[in-house]
Amino acid sequence: EEAERLVVVTGANKGIGFEIVRQLAKEGITVVLTARDATRGKEALESLKSQGLHTVNFHPLDVASQESVLALAEWLHKTYGGIDILVNNAGILNLDKDVTFETVKPVLDTNYFGVKNVTKALLPLLRDDTAGGAQVIVVASRFGQLKHLENKDYVKKLSDREHLTEDFVDSFVNHYLKDVVDGSQKGEGWPNWTDWVNSPYGRSVETYSVSKVAVIAYVSALHNTLVAQLGSGKKINVFSCTPGFVATDFNNNRGTKTVEEGADTPVWLALHSPKEGTGKFWDERKVVDF
Ligand code: NDP
Repeated sequence: EEAERLVVVTGANKGIGFEIVRQLAKEGITVVLTARDATRGKEALESLKSQGLHTVNFHPLDVASQESVLALAEWLHKTYGGIDILVNNAGILNLDKDVTFETVKPVLDTNYFGVKNVTKALLPLLRDDTAGGAQVIVVASRFGQLKHLENKDYVKKLSDREHLTEDFVDSFVNHYLKDVVDGSQKGEGWPNWTDWVNSPYGRSVETYSVSKVAVIAYVSALHNTLVAQLGSGKKINVFSCTPGFVATDFNNNRGTKTVEEGADTPVWLALHSPKEGTGKFWDERKVVDF
């Protein structure tokens, strides 16, 4: 018999996050569905219960609010003592055509700093002594692959996975933010989305891409930190992955995959915790190039 496991999923009131919760709950696993809006979160919880899935619980979480992140950590500690798996799924794309501090900041705060802050706050709660072991999974994107980045120096440093540090990834993101504020990011080799300017996504894809490059790099950096602490620290497997191009509100349902297909790799990682490929980027259940 399997030991009971507890999984926390962010941004789970709809889309891929909701489907990740549904698939894990169908396996009988206890899942905490979190959402930034309590009404939408509770509706999602009720919808799963009405499908006969009773191992799901709800707690509010706005990943971009440190107060909210700490409140979740405290509640998890009091209610369950610890957790086994964290799935960082919440993410946004700001469709404003302009790239300004006001449009960029929320995207970086959610997709990068949010992932980091939630992970940092829940890391002490992760149990590595139950079957399967502790895991952190980040839903990133193919837009986060280094082929989209033109700055050769960053490509070189970010692809040197074994030496990546969290401070370096922070400095990469803060450099981008500074260039946006200065209006000097053109020519600095940030993702070039000329081809997208006339698409529904516009130049917002530039910022989204930077945020997803950063979380994929963060997963490698966190892996390095955890490996360095082995012995005194915990054994935690960390994975970044892409769900593929999935039809959700995120892209006005333009995606070509169903949510069932999109949730497949993150759910598979959660259930199997492959021993090889921790710290790396996954697509269709395989390690692929960052
Ligand atoms: P949806 O827009 O359908 O869902 C996004 C979820 O994230 C919603 O529940 C949303 O909540 C939540 N969210 C947004 N901001 C916050 C926040 N600050 N705190 C907590 N929750 C938040 O998108 P998808 O399901 O398609 O996307 C899920 C993830 O997959 C994202 O990280 C996205 O980048 C990634 N992805 C998606 C792809 C696709 O083709 N769909 C492709 C590649 C990656 P609310 O309802 O309140 O807005």
